Amino acid sequence: MSCHDLKEGDTLVCEDCGLELKVSKACNCSEESACTEGGFDCCGMAMKKK
Ligand SMILES: [Zn+2]
Ligand SMILES: [Zn+2]
Repeated sequence: MSCHDLKEGDTLVCEDCGLELKVSKACNCSEESACTEGGFDCCGMAMKKK
């Protein structure tokens, strides 16, 4: 998942430790130039959209 897939109000959750990150503001990256190509990691695993 890249930042491009996240909209305002979305929540990312780490299934390992339970950390939750909420998107309070979306970025305007295009799909091709997403700034987080590798996605968001916590505990060495990719975080999932809640
Ligand atoms: Zn975690
Ligand atoms: Zn971005």
